[in-house]
Amino acid sequence: MPRDYYEVLGVPRDADDSAIKKSFRRLARELHPDVNAHDPEAESKFKEAAEAYEVLSDGERRQMYDAYGHDGLKTGGYSPNFESFGSISDLFGAFFGAGGFDAAFGQGRQGRSGAIQGGDVAVAAPIDLVDAAKGTRVEVSYDATVLCETCRGNGAEPGTPIVTCPTCSGSGQTQRVARTRFGQLVRTAICDTCGGDGRMPESPCETCSGRGMEVSRQRVEVDVPAGIADGQRIRINGRGHAGERGGPAGDLYVVVRVREDERFLRDAEDLITVVDVAAPLAALGATIDVPTLEGPIPVDVPAGTQPGEQILLRGRGMPPLGRGRTGDLRVVVNVTVPRRLTSEQRDLMERLAGSLTDENVRSDEGMIAKLKRVLAG
Ligand SMILES: [Zn+2]
Ligand SMILES: [Zn+2]
Repeated sequence: MPRDYYEVLGVPRDADDSAIKKSFRRLARELHPDVNAHDPEAESKFKEAAEAYEVLSDGERRQMYDAYGHDGLKTGGYSPNFESFGSISDLFGAFFGAGGFDAAFGQGRQGRSGAIQGGDVAVAAPIDLVDAAKGTRVEVSYDATVLCETCRGNGAEPGTPIVTCPTCSGSGQTQRVARTRFGQLVRTAICDTCGGDGRMPESPCETCSGRGMEVSRQRVEVDVPAGIADGQRIRINGRGHAGERGGPAGDLYVVVRVREDERFLRDAEDLITVVDVAAPLAALGATIDVPTLEGPIPVDVPAGTQPGEQILLRGRGMPPLGRGRTGDLRVVVNVTVPRRLTSEQRDLMERLAGSLTDENVRSDEGMIAKLKRVLAG
């Protein structure tokens, strides 16, 4: 049983967005692998926190969660997707950009010279099979780090100067002399105060706490081409996390999830459907309604159609994603034997059964071929 999201983030049920964000940041700071290398549970704890944050920071999801709990989210189509990340560092990268948590929280540990490209973001977009066939436009929303609007990314409260770091006097490094049994050892480390910049804002920007970045909700409209298959990704350049020091933004990957359509199975460009045809109709031949992507159409079932026989509707499948031809719809005829007969029906059946000759039921298939067909089904 997953834990209550409010409990995970340690916020009251009426917490506002900024309280939720704040609490998530605090947790992330505590669980960061640099800080927490010794805690084997840090990764799962962070995933839990990230999931709680993903739900509670999204108005729609939060409402659904408040009303129906975890199950409500599931039936509403939300499923957290943190398992695909290789390591907790990747996960932090996905949340906080290529500069990682350091950039997002202003606790730089790496030298900060040179432009750094922002991290990529992946977001899922569920669509229906019918829309996958026609092509569609979807809106996705996700959190990404962007340059802070208040300070334009330099981390200083507007109108206040950037000054030389008092800790390292501008060198970006600090040196510590440690006495060991091998003698004196001078350790050089990136300055914690300025993160290696050598310069820092005198009064940090209040909006972003001096990071120069903030996490904000992004909304992007994406054209999904006709013929797309479940799991295929659409890349949108430059819509991922913001870069640092003039570096380009990362990319957005929209992972298209095609919902199952209970009427069809998809086999590459072909679609397969099954229709029930009562045995007498299969014997006599009939016209039956067959579901297609464009709605039901009448299809002739020839007299003498056998169970499992297929009727091919050319060009009624999925369009090709690139070049190629549109797939077919394969209609599998499921011949059903009538049950719960009335006495009148039983009478008719008995007369029919009595009249059948070998000629009526003889099959052209050998025993092995029949078995193969039945077992393959
Ligand atoms: Zn700022
Ligand atoms: Zn410094």
